[in-house]
Formats: sequence, structure tokens, C-alpha cells
Amino acid sequence: MSDSPAASASQDFIREMIATDVADQRNDGWVITRFPPEPNGYLHLGHAKSICLNFGLSEENGPKARCHLRFDDTNPTKEEVEYVDSIMEDVKWLGFDWGDHLFYASDYFEKLYGFAVSLIKKGLAYVDDQTHEQMRATRGTLTSPGTASPYRDRSVEENLDLFARMRAGEFKEGERVLRAKIDMASPNMNMRDPAIYRILHAHHHRTGDAWCIYPMYDYAHPLSDALESITHSLCTLEFEHHRPLYEWLIANVDGLPGQPYQREFARLNLTYTLMSKRKLLKLVKEGLVNGWDDPRMPTISGIRRRGYTPEAIRSFCKIIGLTKYPSLTELGLLEHSVREDLNKHAQRVYAVLRPIKVVLTNYPEGQVEHVELVNNPENEADGKRFVPLSRELYIDADDFMETPSAGFHRLVPGGEVRLKYAFCIICQEVIKDADGNITELRCTYDDATRHGAKPVGRPKVKGTIHWVSAAHALDVEVRLYDKLFTVEQPDEQAGEEGDFTQFLSQESLQIISAKIEPSVATAKPGSHFQFERVGYFFTDPKDSQLGKPVFNRTVQLKDGFVKK
Ligand code: ATP
Ligand code: MG
Repeated sequence: MSDSPAASASQDFIREMIATDVADQRNDGWVITRFPPEPNGYLHLGHAKSICLNFGLSEENGPKARCHLRFDDTNPTKEEVEYVDSIMEDVKWLGFDWGDHLFYASDYFEKLYGFAVSLIKKGLAYVDDQTHEQMRATRGTLTSPGTASPYRDRSVEENLDLFARMRAGEFKEGERVLRAKIDMASPNMNMRDPAIYRILHAHHHRTGDAWCIYPMYDYAHPLSDALESITHSLCTLEFEHHRPLYEWLIANVDGLPGQPYQREFARLNLTYTLMSKRKLLKLVKEGLVNGWDDPRMPTISGIRRRGYTPEAIRSFCKIIGLTKYPSLTELGLLEHSVREDLNKHAQRVYAVLRPIKVVLTNYPEGQVEHVELVNNPENEADGKRFVPLSRELYIDADDFMETPSAGFHRLVPGGEVRLKYAFCIICQEVIKDADGNITELRCTYDDATRHGAKPVGRPKVKGTIHWVSAAHALDVEVRLYDKLFTVEQPDEQAGEEGDFTQFLSQESLQIISAKIEPSVATAKPGSHFQFERVGYFFTDPKDSQLGKPVFNRTVQLKDGFVKK
């Protein structure tokens, strides 16, 4: 897949549509998009898809393009400043910039109120006194029309008076709503006089107690778009049935600065992953994960802490593209993008996750040599380092088999293996404790096998393994993260009423103590490493200290030797 903007520009229906608009000089050739999160939770990978699309379009379309960040903060009961702050941090981390174009739907409350008044004056909105239940009961079904409210034909004067009194706080929650007067027989349920304002005696994180009526999302969203002169309002497929209402509002509210239109694309669904703020909130609230930034979470803050990179996420979003139909993307594809990126700049180190001791019986006691190793074969500029090697080493328990299975080419009793970048060793003796557990392997090394030289007079050595010097190794905490769920679609499999938490994996986090080469002592929190032959790891930004790094497993190597 090519990286050039021209190639990606011709790839999807949204970009084709926008290219046509630009060519036709619609909106004077401007492309103004927005990313409109509701600040009711932390952003997740699904949002990253939308961010990459909206901000990506602004980058691709030159000086006559921009992307707004707008908080759709119309529901005061679920929204918090913490979420606003995290959303801004996440968008920036992904590498995007809204410049001066930071907006809040709540900044438009006065204007939105004025638009509602103008709709009332045009006879296109009315105050309904019915209860929520009554309105639902008279809404009709997909096959039968709704029934008009007895309040539908109130006079303009009465509506204006009641709406003003709603605002003044004269009524209780649920006592009255303002509805758009559209068509109770419309085949589209969203057009059957949808509520556009409701009473909520709630404190808002920005407007405080100034308001006790709040606009509904379906009303506030298109009008906020228009107020910001958005040209293309891109959202996910579930809003397709709301599009007629979007268009009705743009057409019927007078004096709007912009004439946006809405188009929909398929949301990102990933295997083994939940993508709903509501459900992720449940995991956090019930303590089923360690907060929004738990590295197992699909939140931007979670994957950041795990060691995923913005470049990897952006490249992933490019690869998956945009479609008009729902789809399910393999988690493996995301992991592939993460590996591709980390391969380029993760420093290589030797770490042994499940150590067993190896004593080289013919290696002089007290001798230490320093093996020069390349920090990153993908980038010469990363330089080299010296790794100590001595008589006592650790190798990974998975690199030794007492009774080898067919095709096992690493260390076995009496067998020979190459210690990477050092020399070959032969296992002479297996030492066990009283319970029969292996405590030590006694081996001899062959000095003549340095620099890749083949053993003379012995069979060819097929396996190469990594190692650390026992006396020099650091003990570090390693957090082995794995899939959070045991099934591909925890949501689907739980069903509407079911509990998705039943599919939480018991093996999503394993904490071990590993032996690692001493060079990592100086690693800063938030650094990427490749543990050779194992996977990519990231020094936890919160829990690592200088000299005492804590490693999060970002992703296993595709051809890594360790099973778990
Ligand atoms: P959630 O269901 O997780 O709460 P949401 O759609 O309610 O998500 P918003 O804050 O309203 O969350 O979303 C902001 C933008 O991100 C919207 O334009 C929405 O369409 C988009 N978005 C949300 N989830 C996804 C997803 N899985 N894939 C692509 N875009 C998404
Ligand atoms: Mg939403």
C-alpha cells in the first residue's frame, strides 16, 4: 500500500465526494470538518478512526481546509472536565492540531435557543405537555404512523410563552419538551416530531446553572456544524437515519452561516475489543481494569501507556480505509501496524523472561567480557552498546527442553546451541532440586565458535538463543498484557441483555520478574524496546523510575519464540 497522499486520496468514497465538491467550488472550495466528541468518557480506537479522517482531510486539502475540535457538551449529567482534558491530550498525541478552532456546543446555547424560537415563530416547533411515556406510546411503529399530540396545534404565542417559561425554570424535568413539528406519519421515526429541547435541572461543567433546558444532540449537532461553517459533517453509520432531520434543520432554520451536509461511514469494530464509552466506563467503575489508561483498554490513553505509537495508529487507520457497510477488523492488523512502526525505532535489548541459570564450567571464574551489539539493525544511527558476558548466565526456560519435542532446535541435554553474538555452548548436565525442578544447566563453551564460526567435528548448530549475564542482570518487573476478552465479539456474544464482562480474560495480565541486560538502567520512562526474540516493550510512564524501569508488553513479535 502506497503512502502518497494521492493514493490515499483516491481510495475512499468520502475523499472522492470531497474532491468533487472542491472541483465544483462548492463552499468556495473550502473543506471544513470537525471532530465532535461528547466529553462523557475517554477516547478509544474508534474515535482515532474518526480523528484521522477529519483531521486527515484538513491536512490533505491544503490552505483552504481546517478541522475543528468541538465538544458536543449538551448533556450535563454525564460530562466532566476530566474527559475534556483527556480528549485534547489524546488528539494532540495522535499528532493533530485544531489551532484556534476549539469549540463547545455549550457556547452556542443562546444561539440555539434563538433558533428554536424562530422555529416556533414559523410554526415548526411546539411545546408538548405529554409525558415521556405518552410520547413514546403515540410515536407509532415502523409499520404504523404516529398519533399527533393534543398540544401539536398550540398557537405560536402560547408556544413562545411556554418555551420561555421552560427556560425560566418554571417546570419540572419531564413536564414539557419542545418538539419540531415535522411529520407524525413519516416512515422515518426520527422525523415524527422529534424532541429538540428538554428540561434538565442540572449543573453544566461550563455554563454552570445558567440553563435548565438543554438542546437534544440531533438538534444541536447540525446547527453547531452550520454555525462553524462546517462543509462536511462526517459521522458513523448509525446516524444515517438521522440525516433527514439534519437536513430539515439546515433547511428550516434561517440565517445560518454555513450549509453543511452529513455523510456516514462504518465505525471501527475490532476483534477482542469493546468500543463503547459506556461499556468502557463500566469496566473502570467496577474496577475490572486499572482505570481508563490501563494498557489493556482500547482507549487512546490505554494504548499510549501500553506503548502503541501515534504513527502506528495513523498507519492502521490508513490501511483499514473507509467503507459504507459495517465490518469487523482483526486485532492482528492493528498489532501488525504497531510492530511495523516499532521495528523502525525500538532499541534492541536482551531480556530473559523466565530465567534458568547456565554455568559455563570451562569459562574462567571472575572473567567478564563485553560483547558489542547493534542497538537497532534498522537504524545505524542508534549506535552500539556493550553487553557483559561472564561464567554464569540466564537463558529462557522456553529455550531448553529436557525431553525435546520433534523440531526443537534449541538447548537439550548433550545438545549444542549458539548464544547470540557470542559462541556455542553444549549442555553437559542438568541440575535439579529435591522436587525435580531444574535449577541449573552446566554447560561448556567452545571458544572457536565465536563470530559465527561453525563447530568443528560436531553436528551443525541449528538454534540461536539470547542470554544475560547473571551477575550483571537487573531484575525488572514485566507486565505481560494480553487480550482483554476471550471471544472475538464480546458485545455480540453477550447479546442485548447479556453481560459482556463474563468474557473478560483471566490471563490478560501476568506480572513477572525478568532478568535484563544492565543497559536499561538508564532507560527513561516512556521508552520503546524490543526484547530480542520476544516482543516490544515500553517502560511504563507512570510506574517506572530511573534505574528501576517497569516494562509493559506492547506486542509480541510475530515470530517470537515464547508462546504466552
Ligand atoms: P461511544 O459509542 O463509544 O460512546 P460515541 O459515538 O457516542 O462513541 P462520540 O463522542 O459521540 O462517541 O463520538 C465522537 C465521534 O467519533 C463521532 O463522530 C462518532 O461517530 C465517532 N466514533 C465513535 N465511535 C467510533 C468508531 N468505533 N469508529 C469510528 N468513529 C467513531
Ligand atoms: Mg455519542
